[in-house]
Amino acid sequence: MKATSPSPSPWNPARLDARRFAEAGGHLQGESAVGELKRLAADLHPEGLVQGTTSVAWQADGELRGADQTAASAVWLRLQAQATAPLTCQRCLGPVQTPLVVDRWFRFVATEAQAEAEDDDAEEDLLALEPRPDLMAVLEDELLMALPLVPMHAVCPQTLPSSAGNLPEDSDGEEPRRENPFQVLSKLKK
Ligand SMILES: [Zn+2]
Repeated sequence: MKATSPSPSPWNPARLDARRFAEAGGHLQGESAVGELKRLAADLHPEGLVQGTTSVAWQADGELRGADQTAASAVWLRLQAQATAPLTCQRCLGPVQTPLVVDRWFRFVATEAQAEAEDDDAEEDLLALEPRPDLMAVLEDELLMALPLVPMHAVCPQTLPSSAGNLPEDSDGEEPRRENPFQVLSKLKK
């Protein structure tokens, strides 16, 4: 069945025809609420999520390279995204707004089996043309990889008295003095 009216965007990001997208020099952009990206949302601080303001701005660009290469190797896609995600600070356990940036090129090969087989040898990331990729799932993978291992405030909003190791300089020696380990050792020797 033919479409009778032109659509504002012929591209379906949930099932992208990457070859046609590259041939056309296609461009897609959008904004997704983090709540739609369930795996990413699971890693976010609940208080940060309650504010409900976190969204991911993304864009995708197709490019056809090297006309004399094999057909499968010529399809490329650049995926870029920015988000500010509330992660859990590993020092104070409060939400820490963390910028996430994705900027990655993918090369398309014919099938998933081929992508897996060639992945170890390829510098770039590989995706399969068929089944057609869901750009949001690819984007979520990339955002998850962009998460810092240990999210932390540069300066935590409240310094709890128990975290004595991070007190500012004006703590005027109220910390219990640590015994010199060599004195301890000499006491033990007696
Ligand atoms: Zn903190």
